[in-house]
Amino acid sequence: MESRISEKYFQEFVLAYDRSAPQSIRLNSKKPTDVYHELKSVAWFSDGKYLDEKKQFITDPLWHAGTYYVQEASSMILAEIFKQIYGDESPKRALDLCAAPGGKSTLLQSLLDENSVLVANEVIKPRAQILKENHIRLGISENLIITQNDPKQFSKLEEFFDYIQIDAPCSGEGMFRKDETALREWSEANCNLCCERSKRILADTLPALAKDGYLVYSTCTFDPDENENLMEWASENFDLTSVKLDFPEEWGISQMELNGVWGYYFYPHKVEGEGLFVSVMKKNSGLGLFHPENGKKPKSVQIASLIPSENVIQEKEKLIWETEELRKVKNFINHKLNIVYSGIELGEIKGKDFIPAQALACFYKHLHIFPEVDVKAETALQFLRGNDPQLDLDQKGIYLLTYQNHGLGFVKFIGNRSNNYYPKPWRIKNY
Ligand code: SAM
Repeated sequence: MESRISEKYFQEFVLAYDRSAPQSIRLNSKKPTDVYHELKSVAWFSDGKYLDEKKQFITDPLWHAGTYYVQEASSMILAEIFKQIYGDESPKRALDLCAAPGGKSTLLQSLLDENSVLVANEVIKPRAQILKENHIRLGISENLIITQNDPKQFSKLEEFFDYIQIDAPCSGEGMFRKDETALREWSEANCNLCCERSKRILADTLPALAKDGYLVYSTCTFDPDENENLMEWASENFDLTSVKLDFPEEWGISQMELNGVWGYYFYPHKVEGEGLFVSVMKKNSGLGLFHPENGKKPKSVQIASLIPSENVIQEKEKLIWETEELRKVKNFINHKLNIVYSGIELGEIKGKDFIPAQALACFYKHLHIFPEVDVKAETALQFLRGNDPQLDLDQKGIYLLTYQNHGLGFVKFIGNRSNNYYPKPWRIKNY
């Protein structure tokens, strides 16, 4: 590092590791609230906010309602990059290849046009579940498919995406002050392993990028072999052109160039955030974005508790909100990838009853016609802990509990008490 960032700045770099990492959140623009706006904004993303002091999110009902996501500030640069490459446009089909737990993926979803489809993928099964949970909680868009696949499965989808984001698994040097495991597990051998893995990931995934499509590649390490050297290798082997970005100097982002490849480093002594590297590439060759055929549309269904729409379809007992754009993508990838979630899950038919799903409670659009009850923090926490919240209700039936008018989850009031439909794995334990 000393040879890379010069002797003068090296001391500052080292000292930055004695300071604690700033804690930040990203406000969900689809679920606006009155709080947190007064906090200092992240320079490159106004909805990114630094917290004055460490906060316990688990007991904040607004976190459970998906009104914000706890995210490290440097990662939010994605929004500025997106603006610089697309302006007011949007890619039609985006892939986030290494998406869990979901910080960059939920941010990307909030930037996409509402008709664009996002495929968010995570290879590790339990992490794919966390990704699904985070997307559902934020409830940003119905045009979402979550897959759990190895990158090599994507090579079959030739020129299917016009935007691919790869936040590669890496040696984690930029995370040393936030994550002790990254520090403990660091070794030269591991850096080499990460570099070889990233090469494989790129080689497997780049066929799926359409001509003129963009690749946004990032890591949280300072290892050149996992960053600019790898990007140079990719540009030579896959006919990519590096895209130069433009950031104001006061943001403290360090621009570098290697044989026509532009890279951007976030060093902890210069930015208010953790270590990050990012580079953007445009693909030069190919036929252009592939357009799949429409495919068969399943019959739409009508359920009294849901607003009438062509978009409500039934798959076995499950009811799903599925748009036409989403269906086209889903039909095409269905037998090629392992889809773990798609559209908005609305609920299940059990006998004569419709049991609403958590995604219906969290989605920012109101797709149901259940009555809503806005509760205070104390009642919200009773509910989020899985208990029977004390509600003052007359009529039996299903209700959506909201906190500051944002959906938390459903209860079924049965007279003297309510059944809590908040998913068991989501419940607050021991707080
Ligand atoms: N983008 C995520 C976010 O913003 O929340 C963080 C992604 S993390 C840096 C890298 C992810 O890549 C991890 O979730 C990890 O499980 C996944 N991963 C590990 N090995 C992989 C491989 N061989 N191919 C693709 N992804 C892999």
